[in-house]
Amino acid sequence: MSRTRQQNVHAAQWSANGAALGAPDLTSPGASSFGDNVFSESIQRDRLPKHVFRQLQTTLAAGAALEPSLADSVAQAMKDWAMERGATHYTHWFQPLTGLTAEKHDSFYNPTGDGSAIAEFSGKELIQGEPDASSFPTGGIRATFEARGYTAWDPTSPAFILENPNGTVLCIPTAFVSWTGEALDTKIPLLRSMDALSRSALRALALFGVQDAKRVFTTVGAEQEYFLIDEQYYFERPDLYTTGRTLFGAKPPMGQELDEHYFGSIPERVLAFMLESEQELRKLGVPVKTRHNEVAPAQYEIAPIFENSNVGSDHQQLTMQVLQNVARRYGLICLLHEKPFAGLNGSGKHNNWSMGTDTHINLLDPGDTPAENAQFLFFCAAVLKAVDEHQELLRASVASPGQDHRLGANEAPPAIISIFLGAELQNAFGTLATGQGTATRKGDLGLGTDVLPELPLHGGDRNRTSPFAFTGNKFEFRALGSSMSLGFPNTVLNTIVAQAVDEMAADLEQRLAGGAELFDAVAAVVKQVWDEHGRIVFDGDGYSEEWHAEAARRGLANLRTTPEALPWLVADPTVEAFEHYKVLSRRELEARFEVFVEQYATKLNIEAETAASLARTSILPAAVRHLIEVRASGLEALGAEVEPLVTELHAAITRLEAANAGHPDVEGLEHAVYIRDTVVPAMDAVRAVADRLERIVADDLWPLPKYSEILFIK
Ligand code: ADP
Ligand code: MG
Repeated sequence: MSRTRQQNVHAAQWSANGAALGAPDLTSPGASSFGDNVFSESIQRDRLPKHVFRQLQTTLAAGAALEPSLADSVAQAMKDWAMERGATHYTHWFQPLTGLTAEKHDSFYNPTGDGSAIAEFSGKELIQGEPDASSFPTGGIRATFEARGYTAWDPTSPAFILENPNGTVLCIPTAFVSWTGEALDTKIPLLRSMDALSRSALRALALFGVQDAKRVFTTVGAEQEYFLIDEQYYFERPDLYTTGRTLFGAKPPMGQELDEHYFGSIPERVLAFMLESEQELRKLGVPVKTRHNEVAPAQYEIAPIFENSNVGSDHQQLTMQVLQNVARRYGLICLLHEKPFAGLNGSGKHNNWSMGTDTHINLLDPGDTPAENAQFLFFCAAVLKAVDEHQELLRASVASPGQDHRLGANEAPPAIISIFLGAELQNAFGTLATGQGTATRKGDLGLGTDVLPELPLHGGDRNRTSPFAFTGNKFEFRALGSSMSLGFPNTVLNTIVAQAVDEMAADLEQRLAGGAELFDAVAAVVKQVWDEHGRIVFDGDGYSEEWHAEAARRGLANLRTTPEALPWLVADPTVEAFEHYKVLSRRELEARFEVFVEQYATKLNIEAETAASLARTSILPAAVRHLIEVRASGLEALGAEVEPLVTELHAAITRLEAANAGHPDVEGLEHAVYIRDTVVPAMDAVRAVADRLERIVADDLWPLPKYSEILFIK
């Protein structure tokens, strides 16, 4: 048997080498593990002195700062709880601009001087940490000051315990700021944007007579797509383990055309993996709910029940981490790259987003009374306005090299941001705008509702090609990449909607002050938004050529690549909105812009170097060996077939190497543009000929596992 065949046979074997969960009786008390590893509100109630617990809850509800004396008490209880669960160390868990999470562990134990040690953890250590974090990207923010950043406890996201076979660690969610108070992470702006949206929404709700709500939360539930492949193939592919995606690989005879995988029965090994990762996630308090196969072979999805944006984002980071960790226990690798395999669907993350009050009203739920109806139309219109006004920024918020393979590359979803409303809702807005009340609910409750159309309870049909779709009682922003933190896209959404709600509320206030009836005034405000921003609504096929032409006619942006999109982070309308709502200052935005541009350049440079070296040292030698064999056979026709390809590969490699060596002396965006326009095409050219060679070089000479193996042996 050839080496390749042996590998495949080996890869196909697996055993339930995870924690062998078995099937406990989940109806018996204590058998459910949900939240076991979370310092949750109920644990706090049990463990904290009554007055401390009450004070903590009130402080949290008011969003105020915590008293130091309280912190000591909380720290004590947290430490005892964690140590009972085996924790020897604690860490401030934060989310720097790398998009990943970061941690630095400290032991609870301090030596006492007499050769022993005692466990200590004070309120001070709970509240503030100072990781030696000078190497995190800051976009120059800290260069001019001390190279210090500190982490600050976020009491609104519960602490949790991470398990390891050899012990456990107490993780405390924290924000990461510079010594001068500037945000260096994804959490701080997200929290600020949630505050901004809450203020705007409460202002508007007051006009609708909603007085009891004290806070409006934004909510998020992310559907996470990922690939699972056998680790054997992964470690045999330097492109995969270095860059997260395959830089070479010909299209296999069978791709996703048969649609057999989508929602198909889940392979046993994969289901075993899912059951164990979900168990881990439940222990961490992540409310995982849905699992299924996705479109591409070896592609899957996991989705939780939604939570407030801050906790939901933290839980999303944990989800990605747990998926990757647990996969290893089954001999699998979880790929979170946006486009691990050319020619197959990439992986995204659907960001389901809504706004809800602390009194449990979902502001994007159409409801079934006219009053709810008017309120819904108002908030829904605010989203239309926000997305239209800041479409480029939204696009920029999900930009990355991995995303450039999806957005703008004829895959789900397109780079043009538009909104799908569904026929009924679109009709409702249209009716309002034309003033012709075909879809009205005349006379209901005598509230003058004839100006407001009746709404469907469950919004419309499905449109999978829309980047931003209304789905019943929430909007689904579908353009996030699968490896991406939810932090920034949601920060953008919250901020721009806060602005739109505010502006519309001001308009509404003015009309009401002028003596208009509430419903008439709402209708007028909504009509104006529809007239000005209705162009963002599109219900057709987002991939079609006609839409691209139509979108251009409507003046919608089509930012195909990351270097085109990122400048919108620092464009005037962005800075204005973000400064006004105190979400990010100009300086903080500029820092982010710099960091993201640099990440783009760095990641692609790593890809290009990897491609060049793999092609030069693995693929070219294989092709040459094949040519020698073919020549030795004396069959000239065969040689004539192979030789030009080998020559072409060599030439393409040489050009890529020249592009890699020849970066001009430019920085920032200019450098990113050089990479996009010169390096990436050179890399693509090498791949094109290498993939042709893959189809003719003797199988036992080919150095890389093929798509047909990686994707189909499970
Ligand atoms: P589908 O694949 O049909 O879009 P899923 O059930 O896979 O639906 O995912 C829907 C996601 O939307 C879930 O994560 C769910 O929790 C989330 N969701 C539902 N309601 C809200 C809401 N009000 N705010 C935010 N997310 C929500
Ligand atoms: Mg789904």
